[in-house]
Amino acid sequence: MCLLGIDLGGTTIKAGLVDIKGRLLVKGQVPTGATEGAGAVLERIATLAGDLVRRQGLAMQDIKGAGIGIPGSVDVEKGLVRLAPNLFWRDFPLRAELAARLNLPVAIDNDAHVAALGEMWQGAGKGFNSLLMVTIGTGIGSGLIIDGHIRRGVFSYGAEMGHVKMIPDGPQCHCGGRGCLETLASATAMVGRFREYLAAGQSSRLQDSPDLGAREILAAAAAGDELATRVVDFAASYLGMALANAVLLVGPEAIIIGGGPAQAGEVILAPIRKYLAESLGAWQIKPLPVLAARLGNEAGIIGAARLASCL
Ligand SMILES: [Zn+2]
Repeated sequence: MCLLGIDLGGTTIKAGLVDIKGRLLVKGQVPTGATEGAGAVLERIATLAGDLVRRQGLAMQDIKGAGIGIPGSVDVEKGLVRLAPNLFWRDFPLRAELAARLNLPVAIDNDAHVAALGEMWQGAGKGFNSLLMVTIGTGIGSGLIIDGHIRRGVFSYGAEMGHVKMIPDGPQCHCGGRGCLETLASATAMVGRFREYLAAGQSSRLQDSPDLGAREILAAAAAGDELATRVVDFAASYLGMALANAVLLVGPEAIIIGGGPAQAGEVILAPIRKYLAESLGAWQIKPLPVLAARLGNEAGIIGAARLASCL
């Protein structure tokens, strides 16, 4: 018996078959083609699922169920995608539509929640029962799992660490708020701040670099570039403070940092740990693991399979 895990992104659909112990058996990906409409996207998911099942020498009847992570807000109880701007979906009944195409029971959730589930099942969070996963990318996503269950709260969107407020009247966020964590500490924010410093005449080994992304800034910081180090330190200071606030509220056993910047390792993890410890101060009564995510872009597939395992 296998589980089908689907990671539906704005540009790529990734999917895989996972056994009940959480081992990824086979995976594949196709372009999402969101501009062609929801029907075409579902058709591509079904075709990809059929290919995977065939490649594994199985039939659809061998699949227990399918889980899918969505880049947007989801009403899990009703099986609706409330809003997924990258897919141009609003109030789309994904669970029923996909179940009809695949002829399988389907579970849906937000992609950050699904990634956290994946990391807890098979990645850096293995062995923990409660964790907070924060994914640093264009924005900052997060998933909070307490006692093995995703916490969604009364508004159903769960933990939204990217939009906790850090600075009154701070930088404008696309959500309409100001001073949200992701305006200060996302990969986008790091690049924006770095460019501002360069425009103000500060020097860095990256100033003539044609490609300037968070990856380059983190690599320069790791190599001792003073300006890059300041930019990373600034982001880490707000991440550390926001994580400390989350720890004081919910007390997870571990914090998992995901997304591209986390793959740079200690150059960003070490200052996050430092500022987290400083912010917690006397309230930190035992070590709190802050770990890099391990599953990379397979977290979405494995976490979605985990969703399906609960069907
Ligand atoms: Zn915001």
